[in-house]
Amino acid sequence: MRNHRKGVNHLTDKVEKLIVIGAGQMGNGIAQVAAQAGLQVILNDIKEEYAQRGLHNILRNLQRNVEKGRITEQERDRVMGQIRLSSSLTDAGDADMAIEAATENMNIKRQVFQQLDQILPAHAILATNTSSLPITELASVTKRASQVIGMHFMNPVPIMKLVEIIRGLATSNEVYQTVHDLAVSMDKVAVEVNDFPGFVSNRVLLPMINEAIYCVYEGVASPESVDQVMHLGMNHPMGPLALADFIGLDTCLAIMEVLYEGFGDSKYRPCPLLRKYVKAGWLGRKTGRGFYLYDQPGGNKVNEAR
Ligand code: NAD
Repeated sequence: MRNHRKGVNHLTDKVEKLIVIGAGQMGNGIAQVAAQAGLQVILNDIKEEYAQRGLHNILRNLQRNVEKGRITEQERDRVMGQIRLSSSLTDAGDADMAIEAATENMNIKRQVFQQLDQILPAHAILATNTSSLPITELASVTKRASQVIGMHFMNPVPIMKLVEIIRGLATSNEVYQTVHDLAVSMDKVAVEVNDFPGFVSNRVLLPMINEAIYCVYEGVASPESVDQVMHLGMNHPMGPLALADFIGLDTCLAIMEVLYEGFGDSKYRPCPLLRKYVKAGWLGRKTGRGFYLYDQPGGNKVNEAR
């Protein structure tokens, strides 16, 4: 229920209606966990067919859970019934909150934020799932900086427990608390982080992935060997190159660029091989080829791609 509390008239402390912008791998997952938590969800992308593809992936995911006996058919249908599709940001007109999960590109996100700020009701919270871009800069293009926040889910969203919640410079405590409570209602563990390039997760993870790519670039070892060393030797659940393919090599490059520019330190320079793969359109699992080959876009690994 919407709660217009005294002194913070235009805020809401409970989110009932959520719009998710971007129906890619992250947007799908966010829409799914939000619907499972009982929210009404609008899943938006630039084209209806992209949003449809997102919904199809959610159904596939839920169906797998039904087959494994984790949820009932009724639960699958209830969750699907709470998600509707959109290809226009004007559908945000009566949402309590937006979570932006569009492509990791500052110009795209600035545009989306400017438009959403005009369309969303005054009480609504504007969150971004960005992996690395500054929350404070995104807030500055809106007239609601105190209601802008980072809500950084991990991939795959339905499985990973962590949500990094990033305060921009002006984010209010009320908004932080509402978003924290929302994450908990989605059965996630929320960790509070301040707004610095890459936050914590990607400031630590991406330089490791970049270094793994340098190992391949310099001929130190094959992608399989690099991954085996980290998987078997360091007990990582998957090697850094398989993980890079899973994240998306375009997203990995975008994050390295943010770290490189944000800290002005050459230790964050993106590996030329990463740039080359992105230029080639080898974006990892989502396009069917990256450091490994996949049987189809978004499919299973078949063998070495180099
Ligand atoms: P993706 O490429 O799978 O999906 C991005 C989607 O955004 C696409 O469907 C695209 O059509 C859509 N889009 C682009 N511009 C749009 C606009 N103006 N309006 C609406 N939709 C638009 O990317 P992804 O992996 O889902 O990443 C999305 C965001 O989540 C990025 O900011 C990324 O950094 C972040 N993120 C990614 C991961 C990961 O592991 N991939 C993890 C955490 C956070």
